[in-house]
Parts: sequence; C-alpha cells; structure tokens
Amino acid sequence: MIKTMFTRTIHRVSIIQSHHSSISRREMSMGTESVVARLKSSGLLQTKGLIGGKWTDAYDGRTIQVNNPATGDLIASVACMGEKETKDAISSAYDAFGHWSKLTAADRSSRLRNWYNLLIQHKEELGQLITLEQGKPLKEAIGEVGYGASFIEFFAEEAKRVYGDIIPSTLTDRRLFVLKQPVGVVGAITPWNFPLAMITRKVGPALACGCTVVIKPSEFTPLTALAAAELALQSGIPPGVLNVVMGDAPKIGNSLLESPQVRKITFTGSTAVGKKLMAGAAETVKKVSLELGGNAPCIVFDDADLEVALKGSLATKFRNSGQTCVCANRILVQEGIYEKFTSAFSNAVQNLKVGNGFSEGVVQGPLINEAAVQKVDSFVQDAISKGAKVLVGGKRHSLGLTFYEPTIIGDVKNEMLIARQEVFGPVAPVIRFKTEEEAIQIANDTNAGLAAYIFTNGIKRSWRVSEALEYGIVGVNEGLVSTEVAPFGGYKQSGLGREGSKYGLDEYLEIKYVCMGNMS
Ligand code: ADP
Repeated sequence: MIKTMFTRTIHRVSIIQSHHSSISRREMSMGTESVVARLKSSGLLQTKGLIGGKWTDAYDGRTIQVNNPATGDLIASVACMGEKETKDAISSAYDAFGHWSKLTAADRSSRLRNWYNLLIQHKEELGQLITLEQGKPLKEAIGEVGYGASFIEFFAEEAKRVYGDIIPSTLTDRRLFVLKQPVGVVGAITPWNFPLAMITRKVGPALACGCTVVIKPSEFTPLTALAAAELALQSGIPPGVLNVVMGDAPKIGNSLLESPQVRKITFTGSTAVGKKLMAGAAETVKKVSLELGGNAPCIVFDDADLEVALKGSLATKFRNSGQTCVCANRILVQEGIYEKFTSAFSNAVQNLKVGNGFSEGVVQGPLINEAAVQKVDSFVQDAISKGAKVLVGGKRHSLGLTFYEPTIIGDVKNEMLIARQEVFGPVAPVIRFKTEEEAIQIANDTNAGLAAYIFTNGIKRSWRVSEALEYGIVGVNEGLVSTEVAPFGGYKQSGLGREGSKYGLDEYLEIKYVCMGNMS
C-alpha cells in the first residue's frame, strides 16, 4: 500500500547515514511518557471518537489500546466503536452536508486554509504523535506532517476552481450546461503507515468540493487522526462535517457500505480489504476510490549514473522502513552494473542507523508490529531456501520486538514470494537482468501497478521504458516522486482513481447535465 513522500520536506541524503544503533532498551522506553504528557497538555491527545462535533466514548464503553511499536509501551486507550456509532456519524455527516455544501467555495477554502495553518503550527507535536504510534523517525514524521498538510493547502486553493461547462447546443432553442456537484457523504478508511497524510489527501478534496466525511483511521494509529480532527474543529470546519470513528473495522466498514446515505468510499490499504469494500459498495452503487498494494520495480540500467541510482534506490526502498506501497519491492539491476551497484548499495545499507524514532540519527524505525516482522522474515527465509543470497542483514535486529535488520538479498528470481508480494519492510531483493525487454517483462509480470522507478542516462530509453511500464507512477532517476500537485494511483489491482492534483477532485464530484429547452 501507501503511500508517499515529501517533496517539500524530504531529507534525501539523511537516509544514507552511519553507524549501527547502540541504544539500550531502557533508553528506548524513555520518551513515551514525557511525549504523552506534552501532547496531553497541548490538547492534542484525544482518545474519543468525533461524532457531530462531540468527542464521544464507545456506547458500550469499550476501548482499545494504542501502543508504541518501538517499545511496546501503552500510549493511550481509545474508544472502540462499531455499528451504532458509525450510523450516528453518518447521520451527522448527512445533516451537515446540507449546510457545508451550500457555503461559498471561498468560505470552505478559507476554513481549510485555517486548518492547514494549524497543522503546520503544530507540526512538531503531530510529528511526535506519528513517531509515538507509528514508529518512523521523528524527522521523517515531521516531514509527513508537512506533506499531509500540503493536501489541505492545495485543495483549499482548488476549492475555488471547480468549474463546470457550457456546451454548444445542437439545437438553436436549447442551452446545455454541465454542473459539478459534491457527491455527498464520504466514508474514508485509512491505514497506519502515513497516519496523517493518508487522511488529508482524502479529506482535503472531499471537503473542498462540499462533501462531508466519516473517517475510519487504522486502529494502530488513531491518535494522529484524532489530533488532526481537533485542529479541524478549531479551524472553523463545522460540527458534523468531519467525523472520526474507530474500533471494529469490519463493523464500521459494513455500516458505511450498507448506508444509502454514504455515496462514496475512499480507501487506502491492502488489496484484499480493498476488494471486499469494492464488492460491498456494489449493493448501493457507491463511487469508489482505492489505493491498494504495489509491487514496485526499481530498474537500474547499465547506463545509469551510479550515485543517482544508489541514492534513489535507498530512498525508495528504505523510507518508513520499507512500509509504503510505493517502496521499491524489487530492485532489477542490469548485469553490467550488477556487481558495482550491489557492492555500493550494501555499503550504504549496512550503515543505516536503526532504533527508536526519537533517537538522534536514527533513519530506520521499528515495523508496525511483530506480525509484520514475522511476515518479512518468512519472505526472506523463503527466498534463501530457494537459492537467494543474503548480502546484508537477513534477520531480526538485536533490538528485538519489532525491529528487522535493513537487508539486501541478491540472486532473487521473480518467481519467489518476495518478488510476487509486497514485503512491506526493510528488505531489498535484487534481481539480475540482461536486456531492456527482459526488465520490462519482469517489471510488468505482476498484478500490481502502482509505482515503478528507472535509472538510466538514456533519454530515449527513459521514454520507451516509462511508456511500456504498466504503472500509474513512474520515477525516472528519482526515488521520491509523491507530491500533492501530481496524481497518485495505480493500474491493475493497485487501485482505482487518483489522489492529489486536479484529478483528485473529480473523485468527489458528480457531473450534472442541465438542458434548458424552448429558449427561443
Ligand atoms: P494494512 O495491511 O496496511 O493494515 P488493511 O487493509 O488491513 O491494511 O487496513 C487498512 C485499513 O482498513 C485500516 O483502517 C483497517 O482497520 C481497515 N480494515 C481492515 N479490514 C476492514 C474491513 N473488513 N472493513 C473495513 N475496513 C477494514
């Protein structure tokens, strides 16, 4: 799945850094309490759901725990909601739609702009919250806040540009118009790897158009969503326009799917859940956007600039510890540059500093939970058992718990599990190839089609290969391509629709044709 990078705030070089972590378990555990205390005093540590502008407990009082993936520490217990709360959130969003959709675009725009300003003003605290519940290094987390907020800024601007059309009529006494209208109540289901940005790139365009939203964040990372919702309330976005429920994912999901009042489902997450949601949306024929899993190839040709290819491959593979849907999942390297590239890549990867995201200099945080570590390790073991060779890492990190060593495995074949499915962890499988045709064939031999990367100095080759790749996003000599101004989305089973850019608005709009007759 997911999800992205920060063209504005990115620290491209910082990922290529030094020294293995030597921090102790005690040091690792320090921080949770003090960060929680700071966040509480700033009013950003909300633990209830938001329904109709009111912070609301689960109706049966149930809670779920949110833990720090780096230490296992409890951060907070949040409301564990289900069907009843979701129904009420939908009703609130439905009631608020009448008012919100009728505000002027300029009015909605200025409230979104206020929200953007508040997100930026609280960049540090939101970044800390992201590191606390998701684990990514603080600098990267603050980068996500800038990136996430940029969608609110961009769509605050776009709110004023939802133009319709006047169509030259085929009859002299008729006038033909196209109006664009908000689709209505939107159900937004989001994952844990970008706890803020995956929300803002859905909610930004939805609210800009005049839609209202029920958000269901991941149960692993609800706190960032709740803090962002608190800031939305402060920014003058009226009660009911933005609601947040979390808890029992299937129950919340089914309530959103079954409701005829919900006119759109937007989802980022696994392909399996995306397919379920798409099927479930059929009953009420909702509009659907899906950002699902990727299996990104990163192709390094013999004629690539080695430094550029190295930097790009490191950035696209190892950001967020490999937990993004646009992370390179397969590094394809042409035979003429294979030895040079893998040796330089290995040098860089064994120097990536692993540890708690709050520790200075750490560029690789924990994975989200132990199940993720087990999955990563099982993919690595499967590849080894089939003849792949570990070049760096290849096992759980000595920090234990949720940590995995940044890993490179060579001599990988495209048939191996690790090249068929998303590893979603800090493991770079390297596949050797001979010709451009072979690279394209290997790259396209997958059901996914989200992002692909190529490294070459050949201008003709860059066009040829970009056009041949069955992917929604292609980075040429660049490993970090996501930005709010460009369309993000996939071909094939990587999803439907686009997020960000002017195309991102269309996902939340209905087109209405108005024919005025007998005008002569
Ligand atoms: P990931 O593997 O990244 O966690 P998931 O698809 O499991 O991806 O989760 C993404 C989001 O989908 C999360 O908010 C999760 O709670 C939600 N989710 C999981 N199962 C369902 C479901 N059956 N219906 C609705 N939402 C679901």
